[in-house]
Parts: sequence; C-alpha cells; structure tokens
Amino acid sequence: MSDFDLVIRGGGLWLAPLGGDGYANADRSPVMDVGIRGDRLVAIAPQLPGTGRVEIDAGGKLVSPPFVESHIHLDSALTAGQPRVNESGTLFEGIQIWAERKPSLTVEDVEERAIATLKTQAQQGVLYVRSHVDVSEPNLTALRALLAVREAVQDWITLQILAFPQDGLYGDPRNAELYQEAISLGVDVLGGIPHYELTREAGVQSVEQIFNWAVQKDRLIDLHCDEIDDPQSRFLEVMAACAIRHDIGPRATASHTTAFGSYENGYANKLMGFLQRAKLNFIANPLINITLQGRTDTYPKRRGITRVKELWQGGLNVSLGHDCIQDPWYSLGTGNMLDVASMAIHCCHMTGQQEMVACYDMITYGGAQTLQLQNYGLAVGNPADLIILDAADPIAALRQRATITTVIRRGKILAETQPAVTAWHGIPIP
Ligand SMILES: [Zn+2]
Repeated sequence: MSDFDLVIRGGGLWLAPLGGDGYANADRSPVMDVGIRGDRLVAIAPQLPGTGRVEIDAGGKLVSPPFVESHIHLDSALTAGQPRVNESGTLFEGIQIWAERKPSLTVEDVEERAIATLKTQAQQGVLYVRSHVDVSEPNLTALRALLAVREAVQDWITLQILAFPQDGLYGDPRNAELYQEAISLGVDVLGGIPHYELTREAGVQSVEQIFNWAVQKDRLIDLHCDEIDDPQSRFLEVMAACAIRHDIGPRATASHTTAFGSYENGYANKLMGFLQRAKLNFIANPLINITLQGRTDTYPKRRGITRVKELWQGGLNVSLGHDCIQDPWYSLGTGNMLDVASMAIHCCHMTGQQEMVACYDMITYGGAQTLQLQNYGLAVGNPADLIILDAADPIAALRQRATITTVIRRGKILAETQPAVTAWHGIPIP
C-alpha cells in the first residue's frame, strides 16, 4: 500500500515571504518533495521516504501555491462587442455599453460565461477568485447567477462574490435598496464606486455607509476607489479614515486607486502615512489601468496606475488583478496571471530582481492576503492546492509566460498542459 495518494518529487517550492528581508531570502525556494494524502499536504521533506500512489517528477521546476485572481468582473466577461465595440477605449464608454447589455442578461447567460472564464483561469493555475458583480441591475440577475456559480464550482475553484454598485450606490434612488438585498442574498464582500457617485459628498457618504454595513454584517470590503486620472479624486483618504475608525484595515481593500498616480507628491507622501496606519490592502489592475486611463492626456501621457512600487516599499499589501476578460472595457485578456504581473513590472518600473519577485508574490501570497484566505500556501496541514510551472523560478516564469503544466486542487490533478514544442527546420545554407 502507498504511503501517500500523491507525491511530487524534487520541485522548487515557492514558500511564503518572511516579511522584510524575506524577499531576498534564497531559501524561499528549497528543492523538496511534497506528500499529499486526501485533500491535504501532509509531508514536505528534501527526500520524502515512502511512495505515492501517483508520483510526479517536478525535475527542479517551480512548485507554487495557486494564483489568486483578486479582481475580476465575471458577469461581464466574454461580452466584448455586445451590443457594440468600445471605440473610444474609455472607462465611461465601457460603462455605457455595459448599461446597454445589461437588460438582456439571463441567469443562464451569466452562468455559462462565468464558468467558461473560471475554467480558462483554473487551467492556468488560478484557484482563488474574487469577482465583482453589478448589483445596480433591478432584477439582480447577474448576482443570482454568480451565487449559484460559487456553489457549482466550489470543488475546483474558490470564488468570492462582491456586490458592486456599478452605477453608484446613490446614482439612482433604487440602488441602495438593491445593494442591501444583495447583502442579504449572501455576498462575501461589499464593493463601491465613490468617484462615480453624483457628487463628492455622495461619494464620501457611500464609503462611510459601506463600512458601516460591512461592520454590521461582518463582510469584507473592496471598493473601486479613485479609478480616474483626476488628482482631486480623494476617496482613498476617506477609506483610510474609515478603516482607522473601525480598526478593520486588513479586511478592507482599495482597488485601482489610479488617481494616486496623479496626486501631487506632497499630498501623496502625507497620505502614505495614513495608509500605513490604516493597513488597507491594494489591488492594481495594470492591463486595464494602462489602457483605460490617460485617455484625455495628449503628451506627456500618464500611465494611470497607482503607486505600486511605493506601496510595496512602504510595507502595504498589494495584489494584482486581471479586472476584465473580453468585456466592454477590454476586448483582450487571457486569464493568465503572469501577463498581469508582467504588465505591472513594466508599468510600475518593477524591474529589479526583488521587485519582479514581489510582483510574483502579488499574484500569489499578496492576493491571498487581500482575499483573507486561511491556510493558503505550501505548508504541512494546508489544503493540497498547488501548481507546477515549466520554469525554474518566478522571474523565469514571468519572462517566459511559463506554461502551468500541472494544477492540483484538494489533492487531485485538475488540469495538465503540455508546453509548446517547436520543430525547427531551419533554412538550408546554399
Ligand atoms: Zn473592476
């Protein structure tokens, strides 16, 4: 009889950062064997004695905890071009097109597209996802569909659902009521969009109200915050104040905060101190930020992305999201988190060795922290969720967009992908 259900031999394990100089610690990737019994990691050792019913030879390749997609909109995924293409490429034309598509949503339509997207993600190593869902739509069709999807996929992917008032919590008299109905239907996270409320005052009020509801109902918070180039969009300071008042910083996340990239440095430096006190999480969506923002600039043209490097250097938790996959805001998108991290490396000048490693952490351990996942990572006793990449280390994985050769969920092989093979025929030299 075998000692384990599954053993992975000789992989370079990507362990959790230690904090501080942990990023520089070469021992974060020791070559080890991993033993799995049932749905748990039960042994990790350099040369694990015993045998597995199934054995995988990792051959020194990177064995990593799964990717975490901390910010995506599954309700609009795979609708690009419906009913029309976003020709201006702006956030606001995207919101308009989505408003035109919403009346034709059905539960089946949303379920089908969401599950197809989740499968694309899972086969590329994403096993934890936080999805926003628009709750400004009067029948809450998309929400009902995604709550059903959360249950349907739970064996192979963990899905958090977030109530997102796309048209503003106070943008329409019915919206706040719809939002509260969404809370009672069982969303995991409360969202918001303060910079898109009709006035600055309504924006502030929305942030305060959402924090109050989150505390009352014991939910996480993740707001689309200051997703605009306007340097006067300053709802991040309101989020920091609410997080400090309620003392719930790590349970709250500021998504996008692209205006932070346009703030004058004197204000930005003051704000950074408040953010460190508040201990908020941050999510940047580099693929989307670099394309949606800066659209009203001529030259010089802003990058329209938050201060990822400075937040990371300041010890704040940053994760990265894909945000959109073939929807009214972005007609591209593959679900590949290495694409997302690579874009962050480029847009945020994160090209130093430790900086690139930090970007890999933002799609793994950082994302897990944002989602407040328990028992995430490669440690004995944790759920046996892991991926094997066709690369020796995170930097090589990012450079090569390495194939995720094996995806293991709760101890079972969920997906396997062969790396592409080129047959080189050359040109004969005459
Ligand atoms: Zn978003």
